[in-house]
Amino acid sequence: MKNKMLLLMAALVVFLKISAQDSDTKVILITLDGYRWQELFTGADPLLIGNKEYVHEMDALKEAFWRETPEERRETLMPFFWTQVSKMGQLHGNRTLGSKVNLTNTMWFSYPGYNEILTGTADDKNIRSNDKIENPNTTILERYNNTSEGKGKVAAFGSWDVFPFIINEKRSGVPVNAGFETATGNLNEREKFLNELQGQVPSPWGSVRLDAFTHHYALEHMKKEHPKLLFISYGETDDFAHDGEYQAYLKSAHNTDALIKELWDFTQQDDFYKDQTVFIITTDHGRGTEPLDTWRSHGADIKGADQVWMVTFGKGIKALGEVKQEEQLHSDQIAPTLLNILDVPVPKEMGGLPLKL
Ligand SMILES: [Zn+2]
Repeated sequence: MKNKMLLLMAALVVFLKISAQDSDTKVILITLDGYRWQELFTGADPLLIGNKEYVHEMDALKEAFWRETPEERRETLMPFFWTQVSKMGQLHGNRTLGSKVNLTNTMWFSYPGYNEILTGTADDKNIRSNDKIENPNTTILERYNNTSEGKGKVAAFGSWDVFPFIINEKRSGVPVNAGFETATGNLNEREKFLNELQGQVPSPWGSVRLDAFTHHYALEHMKKEHPKLLFISYGETDDFAHDGEYQAYLKSAHNTDALIKELWDFTQQDDFYKDQTVFIITTDHGRGTEPLDTWRSHGADIKGADQVWMVTFGKGIKALGEVKQEEQLHSDQIAPTLLNILDVPVPKEMGGLPLKL
């Protein structure tokens, strides 16, 4: 009898340990604004990299990113995605192989895209512009911040200055550092330096800062505060594309690949995150391909701007690599999937169904 009791207690301890570990998963959600699936899956575009209208230093750019096959080109452009993520995670959205990811909103620009990704439901009635309007919908950041496990353990960093409104920072209580905001509070030396540098390095744009600032503010925050749900939105790719700067667009994609590797490497040497963290990476919209100049644009009038992609890796994610079978995923599935991973009930009103990853 005593032995049985001990056995039962031991089993209970193991069970509790497993449950505790399960609910302890951390999530890093990352977006690359307006980054096309075409470059992600096939590397530098032959029609653009050889076009004087979009490239000023063609020889140097070709040396850096031009290779004969799409497989070589994509690996040269995004080495972390195509040497490490392709072995440990999943890459969805290569339409040449039948794997499709699409937006469900019909706007095909940023605020509706981020609203769909972050709330799990497109809202074409209310979210119809990029104006700084407080989002009436509830993001998963806010939902998680409203749970006892997630309270105060959520943060968002974005290069675009509209994120405080998309996330409704005021109502949600989720701290958002976006646009040209500096780090505040009890600052470490690196944050003090970032604050100084951000004022001294002019951004090419009025409402979007360079991604290195967003990235390092986020990384320092991870080291200090260890958020369990972190959202990072890189913005350069969209703005360089609008400017028609294919050279800068490619360099930015290459750089962002390295920034994401830096985040992953950090999580794998940090006790709080190591083997406990899931990365989900996506984009808020696609861009055009035909006519050629539509690579610079997106929106409902640009064919293909609803074509997006999704990449995931980390704790519990099956290593499928590049998905080579027919499938149709949607951006509104990301939020419920994330709630599932975080062990938070998925509200009935969410449009998308959670993915089994
Ligand atoms: Zn844009």
